[in-house]
Amino acid sequence: MNFLGQNTSELENILRSMGEAAFRGRQISEWIYKKGATSFDQMTNIGAQLRQKLAAEHELVFPPVVARSVSGDGTTKLLLEMADGERIETVRLPYPDRLSVCVSSQAGCAMACQFCATGLGGFRRNLSAGEIVSQILLSRSQDESRNQTPTHVVFMGMGEPLLNFGNVLKSVHLMHNEIGIPMRHITVSTVGILSGIEKLAAEKLQLTLAISLHAPDDALRHRLIPTSTKTGVADLIKAAKNYVAATGRRVTFEYVVLGGVNDTPEMAQKLARWCKGWPCHVNLIPWNAVAGASLEGMGFGAPKADDLRRFRAILEEAGVATTQRVQRGADVAAACGQLRALQQERPFETSIPLAVR
Ligand code: SF4
Repeated sequence: MNFLGQNTSELENILRSMGEAAFRGRQISEWIYKKGATSFDQMTNIGAQLRQKLAAEHELVFPPVVARSVSGDGTTKLLLEMADGERIETVRLPYPDRLSVCVSSQAGCAMACQFCATGLGGFRRNLSAGEIVSQILLSRSQDESRNQTPTHVVFMGMGEPLLNFGNVLKSVHLMHNEIGIPMRHITVSTVGILSGIEKLAAEKLQLTLAISLHAPDDALRHRLIPTSTKTGVADLIKAAKNYVAATGRRVTFEYVVLGGVNDTPEMAQKLARWCKGWPCHVNLIPWNAVAGASLEGMGFGAPKADDLRRFRAILEEAGVATTQRVQRGADVAAACGQLRALQQERPFETSIPLAVR
């Protein structure tokens, strides 16, 4: 069994079943999740005989990083290859006071959002909890001079996390309980899977729920997210309010601002009506064109600066808390699916601008 993805109590049980003391499981957990061990050989407080036995009966295997691209602003994009050959992306975003990691929850994605490189490629499979958490552990070792541990995690890479609920939930607990990332620093971003939002609310975790809204009315939202036709904006707002009631946590609405598509004053007023008067906030993500041979023809444009300012002002005047995402990783294809797509098309170095989740 691969020990990556097993929590402390599972490791204790495995060690017990091998006829060893349970505390060895705790030691191994510390080596994997706290000290960054990538092989049993590195676990120096465990005797050589037991290390050999572990290597013979079990494994500790990380996916290899098959491509890596570093932006001028320090953003690093990693392409990881799973044991079955599937490739997924992880983005590491260093800031002066924290290290955020954007993780993938699935190989590919079935949601087919019209502005997303991953959505264009279709769904491949769910990632295991170990494959998800490996992205955090491999991100830690990227900056060897500081060996900084990620402080914040966002599930905004490839895939719809709430369609891989069990593995995502287990990975969240691994991040919190084993690695030590505060629950409030973990954001699960969904395109709006109602049953998943309900299940997450029932867990009553203190993580942040972000819902990709992108349009304040059903017709436009269904056009941007063709798989959303069974879910209306009203359903999403209701589910979000239930989530707030169950957890006490404010909900974030992600809104990709597409020039001439969803950035009119009327759209801003509609959005403000949905969002005012309860604990939510809107995160505006100005669209940046996705270039590249495989990604042409998406047909969206960046919003004009004036339109964006007016859109934000309407929300703020209505009392809706609003932020605007700062572009990171502009030169490393840091939007989801871009690196994987580009790897199939051309050499690693690119000059593709950052788009959206
Ligand atoms: S934006 Fe997210 S949910 Fe939509 S297709 Fe891309 S990965 Fe899937």
